[in-house]
Amino acid sequence: MVRDLDAVVVGGGAVGSAVAALLATAGVRVAITDPEVGGPSATRYSGGLVRSYEPTSAARVLGVRSHQLLWGTESEERRSAGFRRTGSLTLLGPDRLAEAAAGIAELQSGGIAARLLDVGQLRTEHPGIATTGLAGAIWEPGGGYADPGSFAAMKRRTALENGAVKLPGGAVRRLVPGPSDVVVHTSTATATSSVVVLAAGAGTPALLPAALSPSGGTLRTKAIRYAFFDRAGRCVPTVSDLVTGMWGRPQLDGVFEGGFLTGRPGREWDVPPRGADELVEAHITFIREGARERWPWLEGAAALGGRMGVDLYGAHGPILGPLPGAPRVVVAAGWSGAGFKTAPAAAERAANAALAALGSSAPGGP
Ligand SMILES: Cc1cc2nc3c(=O)[nH]c(=O)nc-3n(C[C@H](O)[C@H](O)[C@H](O)COP(=O)(O)OP(=O)(O)OC[C@H]3O[C@@H](n4cnc5c(N)ncnc54)[C@H](O)[C@@H]3O)c2cc1C
Repeated sequence: MVRDLDAVVVGGGAVGSAVAALLATAGVRVAITDPEVGGPSATRYSGGLVRSYEPTSAARVLGVRSHQLLWGTESEERRSAGFRRTGSLTLLGPDRLAEAAAGIAELQSGGIAARLLDVGQLRTEHPGIATTGLAGAIWEPGGGYADPGSFAAMKRRTALENGAVKLPGGAVRRLVPGPSDVVVHTSTATATSSVVVLAAGAGTPALLPAALSPSGGTLRTKAIRYAFFDRAGRCVPTVSDLVTGMWGRPQLDGVFEGGFLTGRPGREWDVPPRGADELVEAHITFIREGARERWPWLEGAAALGGRMGVDLYGAHGPILGPLPGAPRVVVAAGWSGAGFKTAPAAAERAANAALAALGSSAPGGP
């Protein structure tokens, strides 16, 4: 039995690792789980697109705060996370323009450069993009992409350097919340902790105490795939297309340097956590068929490779905060294929909730 822990963070992806770093640097005695024990993380396979605009106000708050905490800084942390600035476009249909105007105002008041482009400006400034079905776009010059694996590894290092310990016994099998602590059962060990932060991605629903689950069946896993195509020297920004659901970004270095990463929403729900570093031809064709409507030059572009991963989707948005009925369990999960860019702010919220449950004063932030 491991005793006297202030906090256990379940989940070694982007969110859990960032929570652990914050708690450890705040002086909390925190134990962390191994990144691989619960199966492949979404973070490991994430495309890493980073921007601040999100189509809902709740998500935008996290986007703006993440920009302030990390993506908009010139910090060593941002460099360690492999951030590359490419600019980011969010493509909008006519039904999105009113929300976009409100969102741009929110970004600007958070200190983030953003402006609305009409279709004519979009055609002139970004000629590689077909404008079918579009009414405009949001341009964020500070957007880009980063390396999610490097971000999580950096945060994990910070946690360990500041006194975090590794939770023995492999994957967490069960959480039993009580009035003054939470009992954490792993494969071979038991620990008690004053608070647990549950950031286990696709592994989260299985660990929510059944009687307390807020999900009501609304948390589901989904497979996400993307492919790299040769962009033949084209200079293209990071793009999120709210009309087709497609997204893409250039790859500026590494194995797929010179490529254009593009992903298409998948159709497979309720899949177990898994990941792959290559795709079969049928999946690459499926992605190309979706992508060429927006990037016609992809029609004949050589496919360089692809990846797939699984993320947890929340029908009503993410779950971020203490579990109703079990305030010592703080949940941070359900990012619906978009949780890397907002991990800094999501982690801050979860860490503050954990500190509040511990009775400590929160280190700041909204
Ligand atoms: C293919 C793909 C592309 C994506 N592209 C983007 C993108 O471009 N931009 C963006 O912002 N977001 C993107 N996302 C979404 C984003 O990557 C995820 O939302 C985010 O990484 C989730 O982080 P997390 O820490 O919450 O969960 P995860 O990264 O899934 O980590 C969960 C962790 O919990 C562990 N775990 C699970 N069960 C247990 C257990 N029982 N005991 C102990 N540990 C356990 C797992 O092993 C893992 O370490 C993408 C996702 C995928 C799959």
